Amino acid sequence: MKNLWSDKDAKRFIRRYKRQGINTDLALRVYTSRLLGINPKLVIHGGGNTSVKTTLKTIMGDFTDVICVKGSGWDLGNIEPEGLPAMHLIPLTQMKTLDALSDQDMVNAQRTNLLDSRSPNPSVETLLHAFLPHKFIDHTHANPILALSNQPSGERLCFKIYGNNIGYVPYIMPGFALAKKAFEVYQENPNIAGLILHKHGVFTFADTAKKSYDQMINLCNLAEKHIRNERRSSFVSIRLPKKTAKAYEIAPILRGLVVDERKPMVLDFRTSKQVRKFVDGTDILRYSQLGTVTPDHVIRTKPMPLVVPAPDADNLNHFRKGAEIALKRYIRNYHAYFRRNNKIAPIKKTELDPFPRIILVPGLGLFGLGNSAKTAAISADLAETNIEVITDTEAMSRFQPISEYDFFDIEYWSLEQAKLGASREKPLQRKIVVVTGGGSGIGAATAREFAAEGAQVAIIDNNSKAAEIVASSIGGLGIPCDVTSPQSVKKAFAAISLAYGGVDIVISNAGAAWQGRIGDVDERTLRQSFEVNFWGHQNIAQAAVAVMQAQGFGGCLLFNTSKQAINPGHNFGPYGLPKAATLSLMKQYALEYGAEGIRSNAVNADRIRSGLLTKGIIKVRSKARGLNESDYMAGNLLKREVTTEDVAKAFVSLAKSESTTAAIMTVDGGNIEASLR
Ligand code: ZN
Repeated sequence: MKNLWSDKDAKRFIRRYKRQGINTDLALRVYTSRLLGINPKLVIHGGGNTSVKTTLKTIMGDFTDVICVKGSGWDLGNIEPEGLPAMHLIPLTQMKTLDALSDQDMVNAQRTNLLDSRSPNPSVETLLHAFLPHKFIDHTHANPILALSNQPSGERLCFKIYGNNIGYVPYIMPGFALAKKAFEVYQENPNIAGLILHKHGVFTFADTAKKSYDQMINLCNLAEKHIRNERRSSFVSIRLPKKTAKAYEIAPILRGLVVDERKPMVLDFRTSKQVRKFVDGTDILRYSQLGTVTPDHVIRTKPMPLVVPAPDADNLNHFRKGAEIALKRYIRNYHAYFRRNNKIAPIKKTELDPFPRIILVPGLGLFGLGNSAKTAAISADLAETNIEVITDTEAMSRFQPISEYDFFDIEYWSLEQAKLGASREKPLQRKIVVVTGGGSGIGAATAREFAAEGAQVAIIDNNSKAAEIVASSIGGLGIPCDVTSPQSVKKAFAAISLAYGGVDIVISNAGAAWQGRIGDVDERTLRQSFEVNFWGHQNIAQAAVAVMQAQGFGGCLLFNTSKQAINPGHNFGPYGLPKAATLSLMKQYALEYGAEGIRSNAVNADRIRSGLLTKGIIKVRSKARGLNESDYMAGNLLKREVTTEDVAKAFVSLAKSESTTAAIMTVDGGNIEASLR
């Protein structure tokens, strides 16, 4: 593991924060916290915490001793001084004389000692930091050290490697009892460089930020050296089907199975050589089912992943059945785990949902699951970390984490549940939405509107740059695709299934206008328009329905038709004819797939004033179509400007109307000739 300390960078941090009135201690604390945080082998997703003891000026102008500890909601990798809330140090250190302290009283004591009442909650490991006397304290869940301590003889092994340079703290859940025990262990030998917390992580400490960080890296390097030298076996692989199915083929099947009361999950697929070795192993049902490598992963991933059979490309139905049986067993086991441990828990808990957050697929890799792409990615990241540590442990010995009851204790610990936040889900959260022609105009506005409702949005556009720009502005996925090519469309949907696990709502919006008097228009023009304005919609709908059927819980198709489909205009035949066919296409899908819960609706939009128009960008194009600015307003009954946002809202509204199918919603400010009869 590389030591990333640089004197130059350290000085740069001191200078930068000095300008903001931040003292040197805190500036260096931010600097080395980030050095720890950017190394995923040390810290991922809010794991780990750091502290510094310093003095700060109070409002009365005098200096007071404080401890600044990482606050919840902050990641070490990009922490700022406000992510390290300051507390009065003396009252906290005095608490070490207490015999016991409840979690509630501990959190309250931490909060009442804050200098700034707006600060986030300081870490639940604050007292451990406060009791130790050192100025700088670093805590990580370092992978190589977890690989040592998660073995049956983990403690002995650590002493063998580190000798008297460390203290070893038995497993205790974070909180007052752990803080007190850690201090006791430290007192037995105050010359140690750090404390190893059994099957949990490691603390290092020193009087300077550099020394504490150096010690962390040194302890990790010694562990890594040991793992390299002692590595003996590696996993033996099972026999896989002749042809393994692709991840994008099975993602919608799994997504369809792991669905709770119409609340689907978002999936994130990962694979690598190391992941494959792990998931293909003959012993996977042993070493993958023992628990997580450090206790706090359990709140995001549950104690164990679901293992499904290797998918045979020639028999996906067989895979579906096998996965279904595996999931049923998983759910049964989870209920039993809850009952078993709740019975002996001092305070009775309410059971959480029994669904896995990680799925291991022999022959392929793994899926992380969550209620958004972000949480799914976190699950997948944690799964990869667990695989790395368990692989190292099993190469030397046997993986043995904390006990089942200890896992339960953490999973159902109110302070850990609080970390996840009781954030209410947005209306379309968990939904995977595809918008074609999403790189500009109505498509871009629609993508933004769905993203604002919490959906995961994939933007399809033949202009890959435009798709990328819109996607990155909403945290979505941009995919270059030619909707007139069935191959290109299939590839796009495979990419979406791979990124998110499937598809719920498709807005087939891509289109282009061709003109010509119908008696004179050349065949090529008319066919070209049919390619985009009819076949483009059919290709998209066909590919989407295949994914929706694999999921098996319905879906929603939304088409952007046009006023031309209902009220033809002079010289707009080449545009209106395929749009009229698309209107029928919408009804055909509604008719033939309604029984499978797939809805199909259209928005009939006309004379939409894009936000770009006001900037003069598409004025030229509008002029070419014989429209001037006043037409956009005076041309409708409401005398109202109709914008791309109005159309976007209509799509969202239809997506939410669970009982509506085969409907056309008109968004044109009122045009009686184009109204439906
Ligand atoms: Zn920890």
